[in-house]
Formats: sequence, structure tokens, C-alpha cells
Amino acid sequence: MSSTTTPRVLDGTAIAAEIKSELVSKVAEAKHRGYTPGLAVILVGENPASQLYVKSKVKTCAELGIYSEMHTPHESVTTDQLLALVQSLNERNEIDGILIQLPLPAHVDTELLLEAVIPEKDVDGFHPINAGRLLSGAPSEKVLAPCTPAGIMEMLHRSNIPISGQRAVVIGRSNIVGKPIAAMLINASATVTVCHSRTRNLPEIVREADIVVAAIGRPGFVTPDMVRPGATLVDVGINRITDPAEFNRFFANSPSRQESFAKRGSTVVGDIDPAAFALSSAYTPVPGGVGALTIAMLMSNTVKAAAMRRS
Ligand code: NDP
Repeated sequence: MSSTTTPRVLDGTAIAAEIKSELVSKVAEAKHRGYTPGLAVILVGENPASQLYVKSKVKTCAELGIYSEMHTPHESVTTDQLLALVQSLNERNEIDGILIQLPLPAHVDTELLLEAVIPEKDVDGFHPINAGRLLSGAPSEKVLAPCTPAGIMEMLHRSNIPISGQRAVVIGRSNIVGKPIAAMLINASATVTVCHSRTRNLPEIVREADIVVAAIGRPGFVTPDMVRPGATLVDVGINRITDPAEFNRFFANSPSRQESFAKRGSTVVGDIDPAAFALSSAYTPVPGGVGALTIAMLMSNTVKAAAMRRS
């Protein structure tokens, strides 16, 4: 069974470029009003993946004209020392957003630290006050929402995917993706079901969806038999695979992937089996889909936080 039309690729890279170019104008407008949006990033220790993420965030700030500064305490920093740093950033007027790069070392109290960031500067949208505002359906221009789900909503809106009245199934219930995207879809008047590892009859539930959001962390978990033809498939998963047998399960028919797998010994696959995309009306590729939007939404939250604090 296949969809009657060719599926549309929801190009996260192109949408992120569009959002960033709009932000350039907003930053110029802010400067005209006498302030420059500013982001402070706290990176503890030397985790190479975190260093890479932070570098790319700081670089994007520079591209958009956003002020940024990095704080790089040693791995052995205490929770109290980090709380003092957050407190000082909370108090500085030129800092509009505070981002604490996760994961933090095990001895640091992550929850305490995330809650120490004042909600007005919580550009990751992780503070319970912002989570509560999102859940209560406050207008989106007044909420700092988590970046990955906010990026998904931008992508759906900008691609004119209908949401109101649609049946959406979210797989995964993390605080970072699953729960906030479920709240955003409800706020946009979808009928939402959230599935997780204890859900019974998961394939049956997913088959009813007009919109599937997969945020599980398991390569190709959503198989073609779980997808209703014509559904929109949003793949949040980023799973690096190195096993040739697993690679062949997904990409046996993709010469370009084969070439890069042979060269690098690994590739990235989402939580949706790429074979399922053919059944959809629209889907987000991995890479180049949802992941491409996360940094753009962090920038958007920083500019929004700066404007909100001054309004
Ligand atoms: P978490 O590990 O925090 O949550 C995974 C969720 O999936 C849990 O709710 C879990 O259920 C559920 N789950 C796990 N196994 C199954 C199963 N067999 N059947 C049904 N549900 C299952 O993950 P995140 O939300 O942080 O991330 C999910 C994926 O998204 C990852 O691949 C991650 O790398 C990616 N990601 C991508 C981002 C981006 O920018 N594109 C940003 C953030 C994440 P339960 O709660 O019952 O354990």
C-alpha cells in the first residue's frame, strides 16, 4: 500500500535558514531600540559532543548579530559555584538568555541549577514556570518553549500542515520533547495520544494518526506497517548506527548512504524506518529535518526573551 501522492520532504535546513534570516532583521530592530540580545552559555568540563554543540550555538549567535559569551568551568566545579554563576548572569541586564549545556557531571544537581535560571532568561524552556505556562496554553509569544518541539511546530506551520482537528500520536514522553510537543499540539487543537514504553497496542494507535511524532531514541522503530497512508511523519530521533547489518536494513537501496557509510563507518538514522516515508504525505528527513531547527529556535527564544524583558 502506498500514498497516492509523492511525499513532501519537510526541509529543516531551509526552514532554519528562513527563521535565521528573519532573526537578523529582529536583532537589527532591537539594536535600533538600544539593546543587543545576549546569550550566556555554560559548558562544564570537556565533553566533545557538548563542545561541538556549544561551538555551533556561539557561531550562530555571531552570524545573527546576537551577543554571546561562554563560561567553561572545570569538570570539578560544585553545584554552589554554578549556582553563583547563574545568579550573576540572572542579574546582568545585557544577558537575555542563559543556557546550561547538558549533561552536567553526575555530582552536580542539574534540576536545582535549571530551576535557578530565572524563567525570563530560560531560553531552553526547561524551567517549571515555562513548562506550566506552555501547558496552560498561554499565547506562544509569551512563552519560552523548549527548542526542539518549538522547531517542530514552526516546521508544521510554515509547511501548511493542518493541525486543528487532526489526530496526532506522539511516541516518547520526555520532558525535552515528548511532553512539550504533546502540549503544543493540544494547544493547536489536535487530538493527541502520547505513547511510551508501557503503551499497549502501540502499532494500532500509531496507525490512526494523521501526524506521527517519533521521539524515542530507537533506530527505525516506526515501521511501514504502523503508518496510515497519507500521514505526516515527524522524526525527532538521532541514532548513530555502525553495524553493517543494521545499516543494510535501512539503506540497502541508497547508494549515497552506502558511500558515506563505507567512508565513515557510521551513519545517522531516525526513529522512523525510512521505508515508511514513502507512505506519508510529508516527512522530516534525518539528518536535515527536525535537528536542523533546534539551534534556530534557541536563537529565536533569545531574541524573544530580550524583547519580553523590555516590554
Ligand atoms: P528519552 O530517552 O528521554 O525518552 C525516550 C522516550 O521514548 C521515553 O518516553 C520512552 O518511554 C520512550 N520509549 C523508549 N523505548 C520505547 C519503546 N520500545 N516503545 C515505546 N516507547 C519507547 O529521549 P528524548 O526525548 O530526549 O530523545 C528522543 C530521541 O530524540 C533521541 O534519539 C534523541 O537523540 C533525539 N533528540 C533529537 C533532538 C533534535 O534536536 N533533533 C533533540 C532532543 C532529542 P518511557 O518513558 O516509558 O521510558
